[in-house]
Amino acid sequence: MAKILDGKLLASKIKTDLKTRIEKEKISCCLAVILVGGNPASRIYVNGKKNDCAEIGIKSREFELPSKTTESELLALVEALNADDNVDGILVQLPLPAHIDQEAIINAISPSKDVDAFHPINVGKIMTGNYTFLPCTPAGIIELLIENDVQIAGKECVVVGRSNIVGKPAAMLLLQQNATVTIAHSHTRNLAEVCRRADILIAAVGKAELITADMVKKGAVIIDVGVNRLPNGQLVGDVAYPEVSKIASAISPVPGGVGPMTRAILMKNTLQASTYNRK
Ligand code: NDP
Repeated sequence: MAKILDGKLLASKIKTDLKTRIEKEKISCCLAVILVGGNPASRIYVNGKKNDCAEIGIKSREFELPSKTTESELLALVEALNADDNVDGILVQLPLPAHIDQEAIINAISPSKDVDAFHPINVGKIMTGNYTFLPCTPAGIIELLIENDVQIAGKECVVVGRSNIVGKPAAMLLLQQNATVTIAHSHTRNLAEVCRRADILIAAVGKAELITADMVKKGAVIIDVGVNRLPNGQLVGDVAYPEVSKIASAISPVPGGVGPMTRAILMKNTLQASTYNRK
């Protein structure tokens, strides 16, 4: 059976280290979280982030706005938080209601407070390797691999999915770790054959159990980013865990793999923002 890449355990260790540092260095740090509309999944994510802040000693300020909030009202709030010296990080929970231009809002966040690393300036810095913040999920993936002693340099990595928030930046970070990287997507011909090349396979698609055992090389390391709810309510990843875990050498579970790592890196980025903004 494959080794389980336990993101919950590692995230807890990261948060404990951050808490210790905040207490020892008496760091004052604040994350502003904006939630527009009553999306229940977004509410759960925001609550999780607020709990993480409370656990490690980061202040959080929540701005819950009605779904009819206009784009200019949201922009005005972002501008006010950009100008507020007591706010270190700004996070706008996505998705936003359809009448608001998501890109316009992301572009309005000050790059030095953009703890999600979605602003084009921070995205560009990922390309050059000269970054302030790394995007939370891709950075969490790399940390999960490194802390579990998975060698990345020289390995064949296949990333399935090319979104701006997961697939593309994950591929870039793997490249910076000296992997040979292939990015697959919905137009990729013969996905199974491409996946079978991978020493390290990252699935970031959003399709329940798309990756089956016949698509995986024996001994491969599998990172499952997907979060999918089955009709029976069960939460599963993009990887068919029961069959793939029999042939992989290591695999991240869903839940308990990449999800907690994403949240831990957000805390790390918020602390980084306070160090950066208040020096
Ligand atoms: P997107 O929908 O933005 O991107 C999905 C990607 O998958 C696209 O690039 C798409 O290709 C590709 N794709 C779709 N179908 C196929 C297919 N049949 N074969 C190969 N590629 C395919 O999703 P996200 O990147 O935002 O999220 C991916 C998953 O990760 C979701 O389940 C999401 O919930 C989860 N997630 C989990 C996080 C965590 O912390 N655990 C954080 C963020 C996301 P194309 O570009 O051609 O359309």
